[in-house]
Amino acid sequence: MMPQFHPLTVTDIHRTTRDAVVLTLKADDPDLFRFTQGQYLTFRKTFDGTELRRNYSICSGVDDGVLQVGIKEVDGGAFSSFANTDLKIGDRLDAMPPMGNFYAGTAPATAKSYLGFAGGSGITPVLSLLRSALSREPDSTFTLVYANRAVHTIMFREELEDLKNRFMGRLTVVHVLESGQDIDLFSGRIDQDKCAALFKSWINVSHIDVAYICGPEPMMMAINASLKAHGMRKDQIKFELFGASQEGLLARKAIRAKSKGAVSTAARITLDGTTHSVDMTKDQSVLEAALSHNLEAPHACRAGVCSTCKAKVTEGEFQMLINHSLEDYEVEAGYVLTCQCYPISDTLVVDYDQH
Ligand SMILES: Cc1cc2nc3c(=O)[nH]c(=O)nc-3n(C[C@H](O)[C@H](O)[C@H](O)COP(=O)(O)OP(=O)(O)OC[C@H]3O[C@@H](n4cnc5c(N)ncnc54)[C@H](O)[C@@H]3O)c2cc1C
Repeated sequence: MMPQFHPLTVTDIHRTTRDAVVLTLKADDPDLFRFTQGQYLTFRKTFDGTELRRNYSICSGVDDGVLQVGIKEVDGGAFSSFANTDLKIGDRLDAMPPMGNFYAGTAPATAKSYLGFAGGSGITPVLSLLRSALSREPDSTFTLVYANRAVHTIMFREELEDLKNRFMGRLTVVHVLESGQDIDLFSGRIDQDKCAALFKSWINVSHIDVAYICGPEPMMMAINASLKAHGMRKDQIKFELFGASQEGLLARKAIRAKSKGAVSTAARITLDGTTHSVDMTKDQSVLEAALSHNLEAPHACRAGVCSTCKAKVTEGEFQMLINHSLEDYEVEAGYVLTCQCYPISDTLVVDYDQH
């Protein structure tokens, strides 16, 4: 079955900072909303006649017994402003079951050292990861480096203090603030120099088993480069990117120049057990082609950031413009983000059921 939208009721709204709320959600069918730490929900809502889909990471841990997301208001942002200003307890929201693979497994008998980096609202999945690791693995430790503009913008500040007390000695939180920190090491932005300084005097990277990074793209890239320079392997570092700059028409033009043969491609798209013949142009993404043929292909961000629209190409050549969420092994196995997948050959066979 393809992911569908299901109703949730908002049972609590907690303001964690002036411009961010934590929603507690109750599913009509809780079984559909069982999650793994670090996953996200895709909500849909219609604004002025246009349906928007937005992803929000689950911030509760797998053993907390609640489903919660944290939403930071973005200036002029449709869904985040709605959630922060209009949403009321008792309201209903539609969401798809949890998705995403921003996690490494937990194993109760092992003692691991985790290192998490979060920038601003990027704390949400990292909070779920750290809550779950601390509760599931009694011998593991977690160090969180959390970047914010100032003290008053720190989401979950009190919750993190409580967690430090609850998991005494196992959770370390390093706040790096752009303003309001006296100590140099903890002030400013997180770039490669800041990482190098932290790794020199505060965090021993050689002891870290898994690193999680979620925040603005430049920060994530700097941390990734620094962790690698300090000896971490690619497979030890996990990312979640909340937004990405959209590649526009130029990229599509480049694809058209590369594409072979006819301007159109005869695609065969399998969805929910049925295979459809879809004629598409070579500057159409597989997702666009599927939707324009009224196929209910799963999707959310349309920017290659989430993995909601993942499918497998079993035949034909294609180019994937942006990929911020599939792992290398998935790409090697033929998986694509269909919102970013453009045909090169004259035929293409795509299977959404192999998700
Ligand atoms: C996997 C994933 C997980 C995420 N998890 C979280 C989370 O846990 N918490 C969280 O807060 N966010 C999270 N996000 C980000 C979230 O999905 C939204 O992108 C964010 O909340 C903004 O959505 P919006 O509808 O409020 O803003 P949008 O309406 O999409 O607007 C975004 C920005 O674009 C500007 N804009 C909008 N329309 C136009 C236009 N026509 N011209 C020019 N500018 C325009 C707006 O002013 C605003 O600055 C996540 C994203 C991903 C991909």
